[in-house]
Amino acid sequence: MLDKKLLIVSGTHGNELNPVMAVNKFRNLTLASNNNYFEFILGNPLAYEKGLRYLDIDLNRSFDSKKSFLNKDLYEVQRAEQIVKEFGPESPNGCQVVLDLHTTTASMGTSLVMYGRRKKDFYLAAILQNKFGLPIYLHEKDSQQTGFLVEAWPCGLVIEIGPVAQNHYDPIIVERFLILLKFLENLYDGINNNNLPLPDEMTIYVHQGSIDYPRDKDGNINSLIHPDRVMQDWVEIKNGDPLFLDEFNKDINYISKDKTYPVFIGEAAYKEKKIAMSFTKKETIKCSREWIKDFI
Ligand SMILES: [Zn+2]
Repeated sequence: MLDKKLLIVSGTHGNELNPVMAVNKFRNLTLASNNNYFEFILGNPLAYEKGLRYLDIDLNRSFDSKKSFLNKDLYEVQRAEQIVKEFGPESPNGCQVVLDLHTTTASMGTSLVMYGRRKKDFYLAAILQNKFGLPIYLHEKDSQQTGFLVEAWPCGLVIEIGPVAQNHYDPIIVERFLILLKFLENLYDGINNNNLPLPDEMTIYVHQGSIDYPRDKDGNINSLIHPDRVMQDWVEIKNGDPLFLDEFNKDINYISKDKTYPVFIGEAAYKEKKIAMSFTKKETIKCSREWIKDFI
């Protein structure tokens, strides 16, 4: 019996309002059904109150205990510790699976983000992709970015929906989150009744690296995302395709022998991380019955 095992986190970034709204709505709608599978928390309550992504540092980069040791006075580092203590896999009331709900200002649609190649994650991601056709971004081998929330649990995915502006309510995005939450509830019901679906294969977009905006000698951004790239997340580009348009209206092109699929194009929150977009490589993976065993 998979009893109360799924932790749903919304508001990990305090300026992403729609996941919080969706969770509140879901809880109201499912109150009667006495849902036993889910535990809900607001990731960063202080940042949410202020409409900020975070107060001191990004909560969703604060779940790396080695790195956080140096920053233990920061609010988000303490909050990360508190969440793991209360709801982590080791806790008496803990959860074995976590879903972290986010929105993006990029035109990603509804997508999943995986961190590393854990069998349990593959299982859940494969089912969601099979049901809804969601693209999956596998974020791996990025030494610049570590300490993601879902990595603190044995199984966890990020659901990322966009485009939507920060601090902006969008009822369509709220509905999309609700559909996914409903589906997960039914999925858990099914798993408890030994209904264990698995598609034959799945497609993932594997992180290859990120690029910053072009900048002048003082470090100011001096080129914009090229009009041909705007709202073109998950769309393949090849050598010579334009990436940016500089201040003299000159194209700055993608130069590589490898085709790539850009994601998080122009994400507002990543400007401070010096990321204008990330490049991915498409990969097809055979699904394995092993994943099911591992998940259960
Ligand atoms: Zn976020």
